[in-house]
Amino acid sequence: MESGAKSNSELRSEICYPKPQTQQVRSSPSVIVIGGGMAGVAAARALHDASFQVTLLESRDRLGGRIHTDYSFGFPVDLGASWLHGACDENPLAPLIGRLGLPLYRTSEDNSVLYDHDLESYALFDTDGSQVPPELVTKVGITFETILKETETIREEESEDMSILRAISIVFERRPELRLEGLAHKVLQWYLCRMEGWFSADANTISLKGWDQEELLPGGHGLMVRGYLPVIHTLAKGIDIRLGHRVTKVSRHYTGVKITVENGKTFKADAAIVAVPLGVLKANVMKFEPKLPDWKEAAIADVGVGLENKIILHFETAFWPNVEFLGVVADTSQNCSYFLNLHKATSHPVLVYMPSGKLARDIEKMSDQEAANFAFMQLKKVVPDAPAPIQFLVSRWGSDVNSLGSYSYNIVGKPHHLVERLRIPVDNLFFAGEATSINYPGSVHGAYSTGLMAAEDCRMRFLERYGDVDLLQAIMVEEAPLSAPLLISRM
Ligand SMILES: Cc1cc2nc3c(=O)[nH]c(=O)nc-3n(C[C@H](O)[C@H](O)[C@H](O)COP(=O)(O)OP(=O)(O)OC[C@H]3O[C@@H](n4cnc5c(N)ncnc54)[C@H](O)[C@@H]3O)c2cc1C
Repeated sequence: MESGAKSNSELRSEICYPKPQTQQVRSSPSVIVIGGGMAGVAAARALHDASFQVTLLESRDRLGGRIHTDYSFGFPVDLGASWLHGACDENPLAPLIGRLGLPLYRTSEDNSVLYDHDLESYALFDTDGSQVPPELVTKVGITFETILKETETIREEESEDMSILRAISIVFERRPELRLEGLAHKVLQWYLCRMEGWFSADANTISLKGWDQEELLPGGHGLMVRGYLPVIHTLAKGIDIRLGHRVTKVSRHYTGVKITVENGKTFKADAAIVAVPLGVLKANVMKFEPKLPDWKEAAIADVGVGLENKIILHFETAFWPNVEFLGVVADTSQNCSYFLNLHKATSHPVLVYMPSGKLARDIEKMSDQEAANFAFMQLKKVVPDAPAPIQFLVSRWGSDVNSLGSYSYNIVGKPHHLVERLRIPVDNLFFAGEATSINYPGSVHGAYSTGLMAAEDCRMRFLERYGDVDLLQAIMVEEAPLSAPLLISRM
């Protein structure tokens, strides 16, 4: 389905058009999937299994997108997604993960105020290295929950949207007793810091109207101990995948689509699934011809993309407290720190420092070495005589042209229904990706579901057009008899 950037006549002979249709025999429809992250791979798998001719074009030299399991330490570590949010049978990825026998390490039960963690196994420190008493952390957690509950009242009262930070300041005006001082204030900032990490955005940009719109599956949060990549590779088996194919133009006609990649090659098919990150769509580096409708462009512009990064430090030995996470509290949420202790879950001496929002953007301006030093200095507040790491990895999801951000969130003043508009197809273009997920944005299982949904929309479109039910197999979400329970532990 591809051609070189040559003369028109050469082009015509090399471009593979959809096969001519005869009255009796019609070949199965062709689809190009743009983007090989979880959404694109899930869509490609589903369409391939439903007898479509599928080609997947991926700009990077690897699959997975914001799933990026690195093996350079000699064992897997995830630079992107690492938790299964909702370690339960209802999770659409559970049957696959269960069948692959991939173990999970659960870091929290349901509905924790700290999202992916609870307060079972942690240690928080003040900037002078003294440990924060656990009773204080629990007490401040209860206050934080009360504050968030109060913001719900404000949301109901106010017709205009505002930031979650503004809402919290109104809560303090109304209920000054919730305002905390000294160390308790710092701990409260740390809770806010973790909330900002969850949304990958600063609290002054997160929409009050939109912040609790996403659904959390039950089962708490489970770390993928052996990394997320095996899930991608399993889904991608047998699919025609072209790595290093950066799409620059998407042209659609009544009869099909023509996709142009960076080196001028073109691909033709009956339909396309656009599964690139929202950040990439925002940057306009992929041209649409004719241009996308105004409502689609507005949705692309108005749904937010945040930033969270990982600085992964590999040490000779694990010399820090044997807890699931370490934190440093501070006067502002931005000055607080959070380290995920992978030693607890994987037995490897690794700490993952995760900054978000403006702090993450500032750190992206540093070199890898400077960023690693920065994370190490935060660790020294907890363990002053910490030995230097032997290896490190630094993610740059904000400046990477293949992602241009970490994941979507609702920004102040923009209606929540925009997400639905991101998803709605335009002619024979179908859209998938975490940002198009109404219920589970910003997650791997959300991205997976949108891939399946786009594939099903595409299949239905062809059924409507040709009415040829036998040609296209039903999209199987999961084969129940093969499903196996999730392997979940916590030590
Ligand atoms: C640091 C971090 C931590 C996270 N933690 C978690 C977590 O613990 N649990 C969780 O559930 N979620 C987590 N997420 C979110 C999760 O990773 C994403 O929601 C999900 O992986 C997105 O999948 P996707 O298919 O929508 O997009 P992507 O994975 O970004 O896939 C899009 C693909 O399109 C490709 N592409 C881009 N431009 C082009 C182009 N022009 N032509 C062709 N291809 C192109 C990209 O290279 C990429 O492979 C995290 C994300 C980050 C960044």
